[in-house]
Amino acid sequence: MRRSLFLAVPAAVLAFLYWWAIENSVPEGPAYDFQIERLREAAEAPAGDRPIAISVIEVGRGRAPGFAVGLGLDFAPVDMTFSAFRVAYPDDASVLIEAPADRQVVEEELGGDFYPEQYARLVQAMDVADAILVTHEHLDHISVVPRHPRPEVIAPALRLTPPQIAALPQFAPNGVVPEPLDRLIAERFDKPRKVAPGIAVLETPGHTEGSLTIYVQLADGQEFLMIGDIAWNMRNIEKATTRPRIMQTLFFDPPEDRRTVQAQVRALHELSKAEPDLLILPAHDAAQQELLMRRGVLQPAG
Ligand SMILES: [Zn+2]
Repeated sequence: MRRSLFLAVPAAVLAFLYWWAIENSVPEGPAYDFQIERLREAAEAPAGDRPIAISVIEVGRGRAPGFAVGLGLDFAPVDMTFSAFRVAYPDDASVLIEAPADRQVVEEELGGDFYPEQYARLVQAMDVADAILVTHEHLDHISVVPRHPRPEVIAPALRLTPPQIAALPQFAPNGVVPEPLDRLIAERFDKPRKVAPGIAVLETPGHTEGSLTIYVQLADGQEFLMIGDIAWNMRNIEKATTRPRIMQTLFFDPPEDRRTVQAQVRALHELSKAEPDLLILPAHDAAQQELLMRRGVLQPAG
């Protein structure tokens, strides 16, 4: 009797630890509605008006253990990219998506490798962008907004939502958002809404309150769905898995809405099977970005 109790207690502890730190399944159930057809309608534009290319500006790279990414009992490190996407139009117009991280954020907060030339490229791309969007208000997506050297230049292009604007002070130098970023007018994308020809945005809270999903269609017809951090890796979408509770509860402040993120991953899993030509882009999947650049679907920043 005692002997079985002696074994049962550590077994229960191990089971709890697994449930807490590793378990990553996404239950069957009602999937989230990304309103993909309404995003397509909102983004619609003649081919000649749509963007011609998306280039990747990678300012840094880090690594996360597989279990933290939601790959289950896989402890091998996974490459995590910190990148912005520059959506380019034929007339030199552009929309910039994500304002990820400067040297301090990449090296000190994320423990990654920083690429200064790419960071200079990001700052310059923000200077000339006609619109700047971020998928959400985490530091590795938005922190270059309040840290940009020319806030007055980027302010007119920023299309941030209320939760995103509310997050700016925590990433600003000394906690003070520089003028004129301290009086931005908030945008809402509570229904699919066009921001430029071929680009439409929908608020998809879950990972954070201010999380957006961004749909892009290029002139050649190729479609992309930029999902930010709903999943960190395409393998999560393919296998319908999400980050374990330990990440969703302890790592994110405030914590993720686990149920909503699960429903979103479930929906993206179904969407990826139903529409294999629609390219779903998690923000941090370095391997996927490299593959798409090798295939010429995404472009290197130069
Ligand atoms: Zn995030």
